[in-house]
Amino acid sequence: MNTKKTNGVQIFVVYALAMFLCVFVLSRIFTPKTQALPETEPVDPPAQTEPAVTEPEPEPKGPVEDPADADNTWAMFLVNNENPVPQHYSDDLETEVVYSSWKDFYMDSRAAPYMKQMIADAEEDGIYLVVYSAYRSAAYQQSIIDSSVEDRMANRGMSEEEAYEDTLKEVTLPGCSEHQSGLAADILSDTNSDMDTDSFKDTKEYEWLIEHAPEYGFILRYPQGKQDVTGIIYEPWHFRFVGVYYAKLLTEQGLTLEEFFAQQNWLDEDGKAVYHICPEEPPSSDDIEEVPDIPEEDVIDDEVEEI
Ligand SMILES: [Zn+2]
Repeated sequence: MNTKKTNGVQIFVVYALAMFLCVFVLSRIFTPKTQALPETEPVDPPAQTEPAVTEPEPEPKGPVEDPADADNTWAMFLVNNENPVPQHYSDDLETEVVYSSWKDFYMDSRAAPYMKQMIADAEEDGIYLVVYSAYRSAAYQQSIIDSSVEDRMANRGMSEEEAYEDTLKEVTLPGCSEHQSGLAADILSDTNSDMDTDSFKDTKEYEWLIEHAPEYGFILRYPQGKQDVTGIIYEPWHFRFVGVYYAKLLTEQGLTLEEFFAQQNWLDEDGKAVYHICPEEPPSSDDIEEVPDIPEEDVIDDEVEEI
């Protein structure tokens, strides 16, 4: 009786233990599965949405404005393939002769006094600068393209389409040449007028220009090693008026106009200027502001030091 009772208790205990084990094992099997679902679901969405919300915040940064002491800020506009000069701006521009040799060369009336002063001061240093090209109208730029296309068709057996495509590798489209802005000039010397190579860089005239052009508001527009930025090969003869303040600043910092515009946040993502946009209409003679004095004393001081 006693042993039977004990056996009964033992069987019950073993049975109860077995049941407990079963429940325990089953619960171990199912719990990881139920945990796996909530683990992945709530983690994903916040991880992705949070940075997406914070990222665009720094983007709307306005362009950096001109400092108060900057002169001729009207001249700080970009001309390249992304930023053409409107044809009527170019054609109606008020220009003035800056240099005469086999023909007269013109520039925007507001920039012309700076160029004339620079040529005159160089001459006092025994440096004779020769202008080979300055302002070009849109019609003139188109005529260069037309004659180049004709030449390629007549002499190189190209179709009109091929000739046009080939021409555009060397000649900029009307509107995209800085010469149409009236602010650029090709300056070389009487002993070196080579625009097929960069040999002008080895002349004393070039050396003088590199040192002094910024004092008159001019920058070397297409410097060596910056073709990827400007889209134009190194042109040691092509100088562009941007005002004295910016010419000195860009030269000191070794920046092209494109690089400076990007640095100032003046370009959109397609490279189009969003600030200092070329004005639609050229100024009429009534609108032209009085040209500020060129700091002649500084220039004279420099010259004395050099001699
Ligand atoms: Zn040029």
